[in-house]
Amino acid sequence: MTRLTSRSGEVALVDVDGVLADFVPALLHRLDSPLTVEDIDCWDFIKEKLTPEERAMTMALLSQDTFWRDLPVCEGAHKLIEQLQAEEARIYIASSPWTSCPNWEGARRDWLLQHFKFKPNQFISIQEKWLLDGDVFIDDKSETVWEWQALHDGRAYIIDRPWNRYMSLRVASARLKLTADGVSRC
Ligand SMILES: [Mg+2]
Repeated sequence: MTRLTSRSGEVALVDVDGVLADFVPALLHRLDSPLTVEDIDCWDFIKEKLTPEERAMTMALLSQDTFWRDLPVCEGAHKLIEQLQAEEARIYIASSPWTSCPNWEGARRDWLLQHFKFKPNQFISIQEKWLLDGDVFIDDKSETVWEWQALHDGRAYIIDRPWNRYMSLRVASARLKLTADGVSRC
């Protein structure tokens, strides 16, 4: 795998859900849904793919901080962070808050410390992530990657997921695949 950063000391902004935390399969499992992760081929799947009953159950689940605390780690996510650390990047975690969960930020901070040893000062709770300056931007939502690219010169990477597979990228971007073996471009 080639470097993700250009030089040591660069600021890397890393998303959580769909990059480090395996949100979609965890939710489908909790819903006992017949859908698989591969069926989730759009961003707004809660609205587009779930039944009204499943949607209501989703809102109830996501309002509890235990859901966020129990999220499993994505396959290959530790490899991604290890690679950024090996490149001596300054890693900051940018995650969009689920505002109907009152303890969401505490749950997220605890999860990041527990699974990745990230300190609270490395965590930024923000919906408009494109406002954050940095050298490297890593996310699984195409629109967010585009917004960031429009404002910054750094490298933007999208993590390859079924819900972004139909979204094209600007030339400057790269699509990254996370597997148990590590990070690769695809
Ligand atoms: Mg995400």
